[in-house]
Amino acid sequence: MELKPCAHYDYILKFASVDSMSKNPAVAEIVENYKPIWALDSVSSLLGWDMETYMPPGSSEQRGFAIAQTQLMKQQRMMQLVDPVAKADKLPALNDFEKGFLRVMKHDLDYYTKLPPKLLEDEARTATEGTVVWREARKKSDFNMFKPYLEKMVELKREEAEKLGYVGHPYDALLDRYEEGATTTDVDKVFTPLASSLKGILSKVLAAGKFPTTHPLELVKYEEAAMVRVNMAILKVLDMPKKTFRMDVSTHPFTSSMSIDDVRITTRYEGEDFKASLYSTVHESGHAIYSLQSDRSLEYTPLEGGVSLGMHESQSRFWENFIGRSRGFVKLIYPTLEANLPFLTNYNEEEVYRYVNSVKPSLIRVEADELTYNFHIILRYELEKKLIGGELQVSEIPSVWNDMMQKYVGVRPENDAQGVLQDVHWSAGLIGYFATYSLGNIIGGMFYNQVQKDMDLKSIVARGELVRVKEWLKEKLHKYGAMYSPKEIQNRLFGEQYNPKWLVSYLEEKYLAT
Ligand SMILES: [Zn+2]
Repeated sequence: MELKPCAHYDYILKFASVDSMSKNPAVAEIVENYKPIWALDSVSSLLGWDMETYMPPGSSEQRGFAIAQTQLMKQQRMMQLVDPVAKADKLPALNDFEKGFLRVMKHDLDYYTKLPPKLLEDEARTATEGTVVWREARKKSDFNMFKPYLEKMVELKREEAEKLGYVGHPYDALLDRYEEGATTTDVDKVFTPLASSLKGILSKVLAAGKFPTTHPLELVKYEEAAMVRVNMAILKVLDMPKKTFRMDVSTHPFTSSMSIDDVRITTRYEGEDFKASLYSTVHESGHAIYSLQSDRSLEYTPLEGGVSLGMHESQSRFWENFIGRSRGFVKLIYPTLEANLPFLTNYNEEEVYRYVNSVKPSLIRVEADELTYNFHIILRYELEKKLIGGELQVSEIPSVWNDMMQKYVGVRPENDAQGVLQDVHWSAGLIGYFATYSLGNIIGGMFYNQVQKDMDLKSIVARGELVRVKEWLKEKLHKYGAMYSPKEIQNRLFGEQYNPKWLVSYLEEKYLAT
């Protein structure tokens, strides 16, 4: 029998041909030793993607076990790199790749070395049990059912903050896991003026009535097959690569990256209000573009992909809102929409533009529009910070939540299901995460301002030359992956960090000047 090179053989050839950017032998050795860890992460992502898309639902327990095991193997391998990383970090004359690699490794190793396994186990157990109870509590709109689990989670997260360490506020330690280097001082400085500017814009928009609070198209039902055609056409407009990208369906859309050459998104089809499906596709494509455009030299290292949740969200929001909800984009895709969604014959381009940009003060974050969304985030951030800082008790949250909702958005939940129980994050232990959504919007605004210095964005979008925008983003941000920290890359790009001014001026121009 003749032996033929198999698929594995091709893989090994490709694997061996990877040229590390590290010139220093000590760092190059760690980079090499990281490759199996990269593989575990890639496998873990694939297992997670499959669980949300095609896995028969009965296997979730075993799949959860398999994912946990790959994560455990990752942790064991990472721990072997603690000493080599500490030694390499003291070496002189490291290049940017080496510095970035060691920075990210230290940040990840911090988590494994500073947090006792018992704490991580307690957190995981509280999250699993708490999420089950949270689902039931939300159904019954009964915060008291969920309260003991949230109290336990807050206690564990305060312990986590103490173990990780911080300079100013204990919340800084938690925020840093999601947005490296960002502190409550940074966020307060940004969210306070943002909230007051947004409040001013919102009251003017509502008074003018040019952007509707509801639109008849929200109730119109669509054929799923027709909407699939629309979304596939949108992927073409965004020039998503056929060989290295795919789209599937899940209840909650997400992006999953297995490698630079395998990035997958999901979208959703609820059967009515087609903008939800359309903008899920655009949003997740924005995440995917960032991950797909890492420089090839970052492959198999922790630098491929993106640098932080805030920076990632800046890219998804940039495509979803700044581009996707612009007049030019609506004009560009209107013929596709009209050809596939027969009910649009009664609605012209301008109507569709108003529909996708309706402004409605509402209670539910995931349904919020571009303008009111940030209030939902600021509220959660304020509450989390006070909980972790010990200035607020869990029992006080529902009433404080409702008061803040009234203050910021002007609406008051009638029950806890519409209020404090609406999001999964707290039961899952994701405390410190929310702020990154608005930081993403803010950085998106900075990109929007910056790109217009280099090109006439509006006409480029209207002409469908989106490849030029993608190329620009690649050169400015994507190709660097996580090589520079979120603050450093912002300084390099904009000469400033987290400046909400550009988001505000964009919203003023869009909602008040036109
Ligand atoms: Zn996102």
